[in-house]
Amino acid sequence: MTEKIKEGQTVTMFVPYDCNNACPFCVNKDDYRDTSGFDLDRCYRSLDLMDRILPHNDIVLTGGEPLANLPALEDILSHINDRHHIYINTTLPTNAEQDMYKVAETLNKYVGKIDCINVSRHLKHYVKECPDEIFDLLKIRHRINCVVFEDADEPDTEAKLEKFFARFAGHEIQLRANYSYLTLDNVFDTEHDRLYKLINRMCEYQYDLEKELFRTGFVFKRGDSKITYHKTLPYSKIDGKIGDIIIRQTGLIYDDWNNYGSELNINSFTMK
Ligand code: SF4
Repeated sequence: MTEKIKEGQTVTMFVPYDCNNACPFCVNKDDYRDTSGFDLDRCYRSLDLMDRILPHNDIVLTGGEPLANLPALEDILSHINDRHHIYINTTLPTNAEQDMYKVAETLNKYVGKIDCINVSRHLKHYVKECPDEIFDLLKIRHRINCVVFEDADEPDTEAKLEKFFARFAGHEIQLRANYSYLTLDNVFDTEHDRLYKLINRMCEYQYDLEKELFRTGFVFKRGDSKITYHKTLPYSKIDGKIGDIIIRQTGLIYDDWNNYGSELNINSFTMK
């Protein structure tokens, strides 16, 4: 198997397929209101170009919904070289054309190619959910990805988290701070972070993840579950330095997230 190393900025591609959910913390929804400029072929050309510039970076497929159209997902994966770590953010959508067996069977073809599937499940049912049995069918590492939109000080937040931990006991769980509250001043702070304190009380602290330019994380344990708490700014370009590179649904390459980025200037890569 090709050895995978991580070198350079992560490329995140927003697939040109909507998720048909409406999470209150979503920062991507606006991009899916007008689909007239969406261009999957141009997305492919952008993936190919970025592969030449950054042959060993990580690639994230997100949306929208990368699994909205399974044949298109397989086409997208065929444009990504096996040298890259690949992460997919999804809700695992099921419908009349694709039941959970078909979804799991399609994903399982890519054991070794896809590194991790981040499945959105939240304390409240913001997304349409398929049966939890699908997790037993998946042969690929997966992580339950939960944006904690609730205030950590609300009296029932702890009870909701208890229920969530029980539901996904034994699985990897990634809790994410509501990114719209995060700034450069508080993203690395734990002293005043009430959610961090709550998780710390409910779980057993293990270690800090390595700080990046615009995100940080902490690893905990609870029973058989590995719990990660992630804090990520809603932007990644800081002092001109690029954190993540974005391929938009149009195929255009940007140097930051939706509301912050501009079209990528190749000179930024040579900046210290
Ligand atoms: S599922 Fe993801 S892309 Fe869709 S509304 Fe929720 S956060 Fe946004």
